[in-house]
Amino acid sequence: MTGTLYIVATPIGNLADSSPRSVEILRSADIVACEDTRTSRTLLAHHGINARTVALHAHNEREAGEKLLRALREGSNVALVSDAGTPAISDPGALLVAAAHREGLRVIPVPGPSAAIAAYSASGFAADSFQFVGFLSNRKKNSLEELDVPWPVVLYEAPHRVLETVAALLEHFGPERELVIARELTKKFEEVARMRLADAPGWLAGAHRQDGEFVLVLGPGEQKRPALAEAERVLGILLEHLPASEAAKLSSKITGVPKKELYAIAVKRVK
Ligand code: SAM
Repeated sequence: MTGTLYIVATPIGNLADSSPRSVEILRSADIVACEDTRTSRTLLAHHGINARTVALHAHNEREAGEKLLRALREGSNVALVSDAGTPAISDPGALLVAAAHREGLRVIPVPGPSAAIAAYSASGFAADSFQFVGFLSNRKKNSLEELDVPWPVVLYEAPHRVLETVAALLEHFGPERELVIARELTKKFEEVARMRLADAPGWLAGAHRQDGEFVLVLGPGEQKRPALAEAERVLGILLEHLPASEAAKLSSKITGVPKKELYAIAVKRVK
């Protein structure tokens, strides 16, 4: 009999958010694979669990994963946890999970807290779908048009970068686009505030407002005409190689969207 790999969600601040099932799985697992064993031992100790812990983090996921796979093959049950929230959501774990699937091992999620889902559920944006982009790298910040979609977009951000990211969103999407800032979810200084992007820098300037952990939920953009959306995509590619007028002319020829409309967009993008 091979063992089971459990993907166990843990609290994002409030220890009372551990589900009874997650505690039971952590108690009965042969090995608890932790992003940081010291962090997870605090949670385990809170529940009186004295489990065998093994570190599995971004820098050792392959090697540690090999050892855990061997243990699973030999029949041990492994519970995977990250520092907070759901493993493999902007956290390590996906490589191990993929390898377990390749080997035909049983993979079972034990759902629970995730900062992205918590923030989105409290955003109040009514939509059939949303996009999760995790942390915006510098590369992604240079291509914010990819986030100009007609559904909400959920981002993680670090406290020392939140103001800079909000400023970039304001510059790109304009003052009227809505934003939800979810800060310190489930903790003592928790705040969830919905506002126009224009008001976000002022909100963040308040006392201690840039402390703690953040999820940003950008409100949905306008639904674009399909031809315009495609023309903007083509335009974006051409602008990497051509001046605005040439790029607008060619993308107009390719997609049929008026050149004038595309030129106006191109000028804004190269500004
Ligand atoms: N896997 C985790 C999850 O499911 O929530 C996310 C891990 S990611 C490395 C950590 C980021 O999640 C933080 O930098 C912050 O953006 C967000 N986050 C985690 N806990 C939070 C909280 N209590 N309030 C707001 N954001 C939080």
